[in-house]
Amino acid sequence: MPGKNLSREEARDRAAIIRVESYRVHLDVSAAADPGRPTFRSTTRISFDCAEPGATSFADLLAPEVVSVELNGLALDPAEVFDGARVALPVLAAHNELTVVAECAYSRTGEGLHRFVDPADGETYLYTHYEPADARRVFANFEQPDLKAPFSFTVTAPAAWDVYANAVHERVTDEGAARTWEFAPTRPISTYLTAVVAGPYHVVRDHYTRELPDGTRLEIPLAATCRRSLAPHFDADEILTVTKQGLDFFHQEFDYPYPFGKYDQCFVPEYNIGAMENPGCVTFREEFVFRSKVTEAAYESRANVILHEMAHMWFGDLVTMKWWDDLWLKESFADFMGSYAQIGAGTRYRSAWITFANRRKAWAYRQDQFPTTHPITADIRDLEDAKLNFDGITYAKGASVLKQLVAYVGRDAFFEGARAYFRKHAFGNTVLTDLLDALEETSGRDLRAWSAAWLQTSGVNTLTPELVHDAEGRITELAVRQDGTPLRPHRIAVGLYDLDADGALLRTDRYELDAAGERTVVAAAAGRPVPALVLVNDDDLTYCKVRFDERSLETLRTGLGGLADGADADGPSLARALAWSAVWNLTRDGLMPTRDYLDLVLRFAGRESDVGVLQSLHQQAGGALAVYADPARRAEYGTALAECALRELSQAAPGSDHQLAWARFLADTAERADHLQLLRGLLDGTGRIDGLTVDQELRWSFWLALAAHGEATAEELAAELERDNTAGGRRQRTQCLAALPTPEAKAAAWAAVVESDELPNALVEAEIAGFNRPGQRELTAPYAAPYFEALETVWAERSIEIAMRIVGGFFPRYQTTPETLAATDAWLSTHPDAAPALRRLVLECRDDLARALRAQECDTQ
Ligand SMILES: [Zn+2]
Repeated sequence: MPGKNLSREEARDRAAIIRVESYRVHLDVSAAADPGRPTFRSTTRISFDCAEPGATSFADLLAPEVVSVELNGLALDPAEVFDGARVALPVLAAHNELTVVAECAYSRTGEGLHRFVDPADGETYLYTHYEPADARRVFANFEQPDLKAPFSFTVTAPAAWDVYANAVHERVTDEGAARTWEFAPTRPISTYLTAVVAGPYHVVRDHYTRELPDGTRLEIPLAATCRRSLAPHFDADEILTVTKQGLDFFHQEFDYPYPFGKYDQCFVPEYNIGAMENPGCVTFREEFVFRSKVTEAAYESRANVILHEMAHMWFGDLVTMKWWDDLWLKESFADFMGSYAQIGAGTRYRSAWITFANRRKAWAYRQDQFPTTHPITADIRDLEDAKLNFDGITYAKGASVLKQLVAYVGRDAFFEGARAYFRKHAFGNTVLTDLLDALEETSGRDLRAWSAAWLQTSGVNTLTPELVHDAEGRITELAVRQDGTPLRPHRIAVGLYDLDADGALLRTDRYELDAAGERTVVAAAAGRPVPALVLVNDDDLTYCKVRFDERSLETLRTGLGGLADGADADGPSLARALAWSAVWNLTRDGLMPTRDYLDLVLRFAGRESDVGVLQSLHQQAGGALAVYADPARRAEYGTALAECALRELSQAAPGSDHQLAWARFLADTAERADHLQLLRGLLDGTGRIDGLTVDQELRWSFWLALAAHGEATAEELAAELERDNTAGGRRQRTQCLAALPTPEAKAAAWAAVVESDELPNALVEAEIAGFNRPGQRELTAPYAAPYFEALETVWAERSIEIAMRIVGGFFPRYQTTPETLAATDAWLSTHPDAAPALRRLVLECRDDLARALRAQECDTQ
């Protein structure tokens, strides 16, 4: 269906002649609770002008059935004008009224209007998710970000439901079993930002008020919602606290009153992503409502997302990119603000920049080394391109580069530029130069060269210290070498560290400088004593891979755990997080044997005070064990990690986050009979660890470990589901079943996802997670060939969200052998004309595999 994949040229041509005055959309979901009804009635009325009367154009609509189309009073035959993806508009007048009545499908993939039935109580819940272009699954429209308009939604729903949309509701009319909600018109917004949430949602209301500089009072009604059955776990107070802190902060920094009236935050089931910034009606994945104990890192991550989405109300919603090439304009900013505001707004989460350095940047570095990487300002030809660009470059690298920009132009110029940008482009659309213009004006710096180097090129530079000293142990010259193409101007801090009497590695000197070319001398360091460690991107100002000189690397082998940038060697430390990130990059690059990396983890992870960093280490150690380790030594390493987990678990403070993190890591690494036995004991109550509450989510992670090693039966898993008959429980049980080490379990998971289109997105994810496990290489090996055979069909027949998961999830990543690499190359060379987005995904999997083979080789030597 070529019309489905709207191209940039088509969007540009359409925007050249069309100006939308308003949308009126009526959705009738009054029968949504009836699972036998696959569709709902959607009626759209669009008033719009055409600059070239007589021209033809089209509206977008993905619907199983169009009932009627009327253009300027004239009925058009749906069979003639609707092709499944577009409604042809044959002749346009100067002013036009288009009415389209359609039967649109409820979604099971999280794209469009998603329908979910809660297994806990049988209640039905609906919500929409559109970005980049799925509003057309719910109503006819011009699906491109630069055709903004006011939207008036009317929703007919079961009488017992609540309905939320972007604006406040103006009227509610009862009609027996149904009730119709009429919402006020929105301010001009893009189609992908519209939203409807409907169902018997539990709601907590609050209020935000603020005096504006002009003396008027801004009142923002707040609401936070989740499914009823999650209500006992809903910590709305904490969510609303962060919300108010964020509203304070953004008003103060952006100096533009929140433009969308009220602010609802809806936590919704089976959500594909973290959250979506629909103006006035933000949607979040409901896993942010914690059913069981989670670590502080999870709360911090949620606060980050709350602030990220809130920043979008200005960056993205008030001012929107013209086309998806400039997706970064909103995502990089929001991603940066998510961390920046956590500190600036005074939330209780103080580790934001440590987490940013540790997690977000790891995502960026990984993505930026794929052959498919791209400049931050991307070349997005069409919607499939757009869909794949919600990636580590657009978010994390873009945010890293903005962090660097703040260091470059200064904080005040940066925010003053942002304020000017909002005032000038409010309710409009922009491209890169609009932002640069604003920032140049306030900073007085020429940003074209900066932008060319940072935004319009791809790839990551490597910075390495080069140190020469004299016979007395004094620095003769300290320089920073830059590698990678292109070379970029980096604002950096270079830190020198030495051991104190207690063995802590503390900063003795810090030099801030511009490192632009191949080699930059840190002149001020000359004459200082040779330090134990040189850290070239101290404070994480720039975006680069950090390398060490020999001496520094040796220091880390024995002293990484004591590295600190403050006086407190045991406190959270950005420098230590940077060192961990650097040794991880060395391992990924095949420059440090996996055994050395794991040795650092075994030695020092137990000392890591920042639980977010600790959980990253667990994840990376698990990944290294799975694909970077010498295959002959995997078992030995795995046992060492499990023993370490057990030791730390027993030593961690009772009831602490660290204790929970180690318990989870034990479940991830347990393989030996005695370790598995211990998990079983914790499950059935015969075993106990002081302070460790084996709550529902922890129970499932223990069951997963047992299942994957053939130590749990289907009956036991069914009994556990009975105990936890919830949406979360179903997903976990599905994953456990797919993880059972039998050919039948693997065949069932494969068939359920690849050969059938029945499962909703959340269960697709669970099946894949259970199927593809590192310890089950022999069981999954037979699926490598069918995987490559299925790729094109999957891409053609499944929704892009599901297709992406299948392509990435079933790739034979644990068959880390040259044969798998050859099979991947064979597919790529025999499918040059496969969809570019599909090829991109396979190329990225191939690159991960090639990297794993290099790392294995390094570990084997
Ligand atoms: Zn975002």
